[in-house]
Parts: sequence; C-alpha cells; structure tokens
Amino acid sequence: MNQQGSRGKVFLIGAGPGDPDLLTVKAARVLAGCDVVLYDRLVSAEILRLAHPDAELIYVGKHEGEQQRVQRRIFDLLLQHARAGKIVVRLKGGDPLVFGRGAEEWAVARENGIDIELVPGVTSAISAPGLAGIPLTYREISQSFAVITGHCKEGLAQNWADYAHIDTLVILMGVKNRAYIAQALIDAGRASDEPAAFVERATSEKQRVVITTLREIANGRVAAENPAVFVVGHVVRVRERLVEAMEAVEVF
Ligand code: SAH
Repeated sequence: MNQQGSRGKVFLIGAGPGDPDLLTVKAARVLAGCDVVLYDRLVSAEILRLAHPDAELIYVGKHEGEQQRVQRRIFDLLLQHARAGKIVVRLKGGDPLVFGRGAEEWAVARENGIDIELVPGVTSAISAPGLAGIPLTYREISQSFAVITGHCKEGLAQNWADYAHIDTLVILMGVKNRAYIAQALIDAGRASDEPAAFVERATSEKQRVVITTLREIANGRVAAENPAVFVVGHVVRVRERLVEAMEAVEVF
C-alpha cells in the first residue's frame, strides 16, 4: 500500500528549470505524498527535498553512450514500483514532453496497464531566455519561434535550412555542437551578425548569460557550458531594454 492508501500510479512530472519556486502547485503536492521518485540529472536537490520524507529517491540520469540501457532500467523501475502499489513520481527537468522521452514512458505505462498522469512543467526553452530578459516573441521583431535539439550526430545533421526563416530559434542540448550549428545557420542564409545568446544554468546561483553573434560562435570564440539554452534571433537585443547589460558576458 502507498502513502495515500490507493493503488499504484505513475505521475510524469515536470520539475521546471531548477528553482523549486517554479514547480507547479500540483507537482509539489504529488511529491509530498509519493513513495518513490525516479529523477534525472537536471533535477535540483532543493526540489528532491519536497518529496515525502520516507520516499525512495532513485537517480536515473543518463550519460552519453548508456542511454538505451538506462532507459530500459527506467521502464523496469516504473512498472515494478507501480505494480507494487506505489505512487511513483517520474521527475524530469523542465517539461517532461520537451526532449525528455516522457511520452515513451507514458506509452510503456499504458501498454502495461499502469495508471499514469502528466503534470506539465515550466520548460527551460521558454523560461531560461525569459528570465535572462530575452522574450521569444516581440511585436515587429519576432512572430514565431522553434525549439530544436542541437544534439545532432555528425553525419546525421539536421536540415538547418528548414529553420532559417523562423524568427527566433531556441536550441536545447546545443552547447557541444554550437560552432557547427552557428555555421550551418549562416550557410542556410541567416546573417552572420545576427544576435545570439547562451543562458547557462538558468535559475541557479551560477546562472550566466553570454550575448554574442552567430559569427563569433561559428568561429569558436564563445565559451559556453552545459546546461545552457542557445537562442538565435533579434529578440536577444530586447534584453538591453529589460535588464542591465552588465549582467551578461559579451563576446563580439
Ligand atoms: N525537458 C527539458 C529539456 C530537456 S533537454 C525542458 O523542458 O527544459 C536538456 C536541455 O535543456 C539542456 O541541454 C539545456 O539546453 C536545457 N536546459 C534544461 N535546464 C536548463 C537550465 N536550468 N538552464 C539552461 N538550460 C537548461
């Protein structure tokens, strides 16, 4: 029997960008009453402290090269604990359905007759730029944005030309391939002096904002560390009107 005295269930919960204050009220309520938490690398310690004091906390973060094995373990743990009648929280950074493989876990639970409920989270794709003073849309500057994965394996490159005409590009998991991505966007027709930014470790004490251009990134002159949201577009300039320029590192 679980903390709530009912049958097993999985809650697929978005933990937001890191700051516990950006968790939804529902996420905090479910965490406080759960039996097991399966959490990813980007989930902060402060958020884990909101789980029921007796809850079992299981780290299931993935590192490169072992994704498949870890994903199978996650499916097994979800099913095992839910079948044992537990309230299981599957906690993912940001929103669980934005590059989080959350939908695959949802499908596996359903295929196995396990009750599952989604609790959406605040995605870093929108909140990290926003908190840095970069709105993804702005009247007369940006009427559209796209959220893209930058985790493109060499030789298996995305067609960056497809995104050339979208006003604002938000690239997740794009730190490692940043020079390649910036060059691909320039080759696809975006101006080399187009503003770009990295927002690193959004909402944490170590948050750092880098303001630069596609050209500097393509030339390998911009240092950036994971996790960071990579934003390309003229909305990056709106920041000057919203926050102090001094708060960012500028590379031009
Ligand atoms: N589901 C998550 C995204 C998972 S992909 C969401 O909705 O936010 C992981 C990528 O998200 C990282 O490589 C980085 O690009 C971004 N990211 C997540 N948390 C972040 C944070 N606190 N600050 C900056 N980028 C973050």
